[in-house]
Amino acid sequence: MVRIKTKEAASAWIGLLATVIVAGVLFSLQAKGVQIRWIAAAGVLLGTFTIVTFVALFIIRKYVSYKLKPIYSIVLSRDVHTKEIFSELKDKKVEDIGEELTAWADTNDKEIARLKEAEQFRKQYLGNVAHELKTPIFNVQGYISTLLDGGLEDELINRKYLERAEKSIDRLINIVNDLDTISKLESSMNKLDMEKFDVVALAKEIADQAEMEADKKGIKISVKGAENLPSPFWALADKHYIGQVFVNLIINSIRYGKEGGQTRIRFRDMLDKILVEVEDNGLGIGKEDLPRVFERFYRTDKGRSREQGGTGLGLAIVKHIIEAHGERITVRSEPGVGSTFSFTLKKVNLQDIK
Ligand code: ADP
Repeated sequence: MVRIKTKEAASAWIGLLATVIVAGVLFSLQAKGVQIRWIAAAGVLLGTFTIVTFVALFIIRKYVSYKLKPIYSIVLSRDVHTKEIFSELKDKKVEDIGEELTAWADTNDKEIARLKEAEQFRKQYLGNVAHELKTPIFNVQGYISTLLDGGLEDELINRKYLERAEKSIDRLINIVNDLDTISKLESSMNKLDMEKFDVVALAKEIADQAEMEADKKGIKISVKGAENLPSPFWALADKHYIGQVFVNLIINSIRYGKEGGQTRIRFRDMLDKILVEVEDNGLGIGKEDLPRVFERFYRTDKGRSREQGGTGLGLAIVKHIIEAHGERITVRSEPGVGSTFSFTLKKVNLQDIK
């Protein structure tokens, strides 16, 4: 099998084929008794070869450039390694190359859009972090300057300003701790320390720790195991991180709960999963805010969140933790009625517990 590699060779082959056909016709005419002068015949054959070869070359060039132009424009409009692409496309049909390159360009466009989005997110995140840190830092600076400018000797303000500075520093520590948790979660997604533990007992322990905070608003916290299941209720998860999920959700239910309200933690059996619900009858969240509450630094009421010591990162951390476990968290809420945060955990059957 002859491999034709260039346009010129292809044209020459077409010219040769045409010449052979014409020679065949001349032979058959001679066989039928037509007188053929061989000098003229040679001229006809040479002419046929030359004309057909050049016409074929012209047509092939037109066709190839027609097909390749859009391909070039796609490739050259991108900063890609054309060498690699062409070596991959070497043995493909011209017709398929166009289609494949368009698909490739589409994939690239999507990837570029994703990277641009990530870059935008990174910039916004950095801006948010700077903004969140700025307020408490400037507050501390203000209080210290006032104290140094004579406030220290003023019995009326010296203690008050120091206490306020301390509050701002506590706020800074909370933000930095939350940022640290997020970056740890992002860098070690797969390094969860999975263990079997009684998730109802863990929730009770955290609820007890939050009792003092809840009492300030007269909020009652109740933890109930699944009705049809014997307590303890075992989960397979990272106990430390799930503890943090309970802390953040319970603290939020108090922070955004109403005076004399209720926080209920319930567990439902879902075959191989446990569904955990943290429900309150507090402020609730508006429909337009609901899809965004898990975003970093998103708050429905900035003033209230900050005043209550919120960093705006609590739910982002919760979502990170649950998703790192390969599970899901959702929220249902109605303003003035309350909110329910629900997440799943892997269940461990009692017979599997040694
Ligand atoms: P924050 O530190 O501000 O509490 P979170 O990430 O924990 O940050 O929560 C984000 C926002 O979601 C809060 O500022 C608040 O507006 C809203 N939110 C969270 N939990 C509740 C809840 N249980 N009830 C009403 N709103 C809530």
